[in-house]
Amino acid sequence: MIPVHMPVLEGNEKKYVMDCLDSNWISSTGKYVEMFEKKFANYCNVKHGIANTSGTSALHLAVAALNLKKGDEVIIPSFTMIASALAVVYTGATPVFVDAEPETWTMDVAQIEKKITKKTKAIMAVPIYGHPCEMDAIVKITEKHNLFLIEDAAEAIGGLYKYRKMGSFGHINAFSFYSNKIITCGEGGMVVTNDDKLAERTRWLKNFCFDKERRYVHEEIGFKYPMTNIQAAIGLAQLERVEEIIAKKRSMAERYNKILKNVPEITTPPEKEYVRNVYWMYGILIEDKSKNSRDEVKKILYKNGIDSRFFFTGMHKQPSLKEYVRKGDKFPVTDSLERKGLYLPSSTNLTDKQIEYICNTLIKAVRKK
Ligand SMILES: *Cc1c(COP(=O)(O)O)cnc(C)c1O
Repeated sequence: MIPVHMPVLEGNEKKYVMDCLDSNWISSTGKYVEMFEKKFANYCNVKHGIANTSGTSALHLAVAALNLKKGDEVIIPSFTMIASALAVVYTGATPVFVDAEPETWTMDVAQIEKKITKKTKAIMAVPIYGHPCEMDAIVKITEKHNLFLIEDAAEAIGGLYKYRKMGSFGHINAFSFYSNKIITCGEGGMVVTNDDKLAERTRWLKNFCFDKERRYVHEEIGFKYPMTNIQAAIGLAQLERVEEIIAKKRSMAERYNKILKNVPEITTPPEKEYVRNVYWMYGILIEDKSKNSRDEVKKILYKNGIDSRFFFTGMHKQPSLKEYVRKGDKFPVTDSLERKGLYLPSSTNLTDKQIEYICNTLIKAVRKK
């Protein structure tokens, strides 16, 4: 079976982990946590990095650091992974959904301002499957309405919008190092920010809000979201190879594109000319003219030893989030992406032969009932 994703740990991961074990530094204090935070923030061209347990906890800390309260509204894309919405809900704030636009699959900036109310406090931008969002337009809207900008850049480590790194646009931004992300710690996340105060507050919230003078007095509800030295050791080794990993992701996408580009039953993933898509996952759309439905295509691939995944289900369709759906709001682009979308094996160790085999199997599946 060709899996959808497999982490490739072929750098200094083992060496650094053994160093943690040999030196007994296995908790969340240790030189690898500090090095990983510094070097990752540096990679994003951002001042501060605060490592934690997951992308979800990084996002939770990011929203909590902004001091949002019950009733405050945060605009997020409807086409995203559930964690984007959960981070907002955890703080008691209200997520407000904006549909995707059909070309890049990211939030439709033309619809954002219609959703802004007196209660809106922030916009969360999510570069989806590795394709950056329309940052110029989003930054403009946040400045005009005096809103915070949060990036959930979990899927776009190293993604570039007009030569600028994703994760460097927002007031506070979050990344994930889950095992299928561009670089991994197994599980892990990072908040990055240029704001000294937000960085300090994030660090404080991350570790129980210990008081500086009276250690065991806690002024606010804090969290315990530490990244261990062992996780950071893996992350640091991965970070050393991040550009190599992205280059491999891009050449994988290029190979897929070359074969699939002119197949009318299939839409290949977008890349605007002013961005660098890091192709976290190589996603395609199975168009209605396909002889087999998207669901059938997935089954055919599976029978032929190829794993794949459907696209995300929209936030407006999540039973757990139904109280946040505004009456009359429609999300036709998200619904269509959910119905047509499929992502193909996207590991950096896929061979050209495997990609050819996947494409040939896929082309047969869309052309012949
Ligand atoms: C993976 C992901 C997250 C969550 O990251 P975890 O490390 O799994 O908690 C959040 N947002 C997006 C867009 C993701 O893809």
